[in-house]
Amino acid sequence: MDTPAIPLSEARRLVVKIGSALLVDGATGAIRQDWLDALADDIAALKAGGREVLVVSSGSIAVGRRHLGLGNGSLKLEEKQAAAATGQIRLAHAYQTALARHDITVAQILVSPADTEERRRHLNARNTILQLCRLGAVPVINENDTVATAEIRYGDNDRLAARVATMVSADLLILLSDVDGLYSADPHRDPNARHIAEVAEITPEIAAMAGDVMVTRERGGLSTGGMRTKLDAARIAVGGGCAMAIAAGREMHALGQLSTGARATWFRPATEPLAARKRWISGTLKPVGAIRVDAGAAAALARGKSLLPAGATGIEGTFERGDPVRVLGPDDHVLGTGLSAYAAEDAIRILGRKTREIADILGYDGRSELIHADDMALARPGRGASDERTPPVARPADAGLE
Ligand code: GLU
Repeated sequence: MDTPAIPLSEARRLVVKIGSALLVDGATGAIRQDWLDALADDIAALKAGGREVLVVSSGSIAVGRRHLGLGNGSLKLEEKQAAAATGQIRLAHAYQTALARHDITVAQILVSPADTEERRRHLNARNTILQLCRLGAVPVINENDTVATAEIRYGDNDRLAARVATMVSADLLILLSDVDGLYSADPHRDPNARHIAEVAEITPEIAAMAGDVMVTRERGGLSTGGMRTKLDAARIAVGGGCAMAIAAGREMHALGQLSTGARATWFRPATEPLAARKRWISGTLKPVGAIRVDAGAAAALARGKSLLPAGATGIEGTFERGDPVRVLGPDDHVLGTGLSAYAAEDAIRILGRKTREIADILGYDGRSELIHADDMALARPGRGASDERTPPVARPADAGLE
């Protein structure tokens, strides 16, 4: 089947992952600025069509090593970290130059696994990245290679890109690589190797194909990923409701060509990003406290609105910003679970208050919402949820509630 799962034209928020081997000339270590300019043209066209575009780019080590005289051989971890420190500046500058041609502002973001996995940091990173997108910038993201040690690194940007894509509820992740997708066997060796245009489910057979076909070990030792990390990325993306494409990126305007039907392997998610996020919140996170709301807020939540401090009447338990909390109606029925934008000690101080009063009360300008609608998973009425009673949660002595 040749029909893509989510054509590029339908995506609202997409993440494009660029491998080192596409961006950096293996022989000289120089950034291929003409290629990058063409990519910037494609990004500008996608943005002009109303899409938000984020880039996850490798290349800091490949670019930086030559400026430190590190040659072409394999590098020790600390040499890679040093190379990344000097290469990242050049990488960011190259993106800035390419996108400035379209008056697009670039924002550099360096992340480590904890920033996408740990809830508190996840919430911060997500909010900042989404704010940048709203302001029209293109976030250019890479791993914070310089400070990460072996154990706390992603090590490959395929998985990092998938984590970022699900963190920001992107609906499409494109891995631009040096192959145009997944094959049933190694196409360099087997003339009968079949290109897989669409993967509806990552079955053991599909996984086995990726194991056999390690054809993406990109030239010049520039990249760490293979088809296996791409499949890991697909699992993460699809699980987060995000479609993914593996597409060939060497040619100029490869991204643009994808929208006109260039060959790729498309992975189809079973659900929407927001639905997947809400399932993650309601299904996998254990609430560590609770926020009680008044009847007006309960009705607003049912209409898909965020919880504002004005509608909250009580706090139970001790929780930090980003922690999952139960949301209780006035009669203690569980309305759902959400990620609190405030720690319990601050939430208590702004209960019932207007959003514009927050800064005066807390001494800092926090979020307008106590729980943003996107961070809230409501219990479904009629499925027993409304019969669920509040589980006992330790109440801080100083809460002074109700
Ligand atoms: N973060 C590394 C770099 O920028 C690349 C990792 C990868 O290519 O997967 O050099």
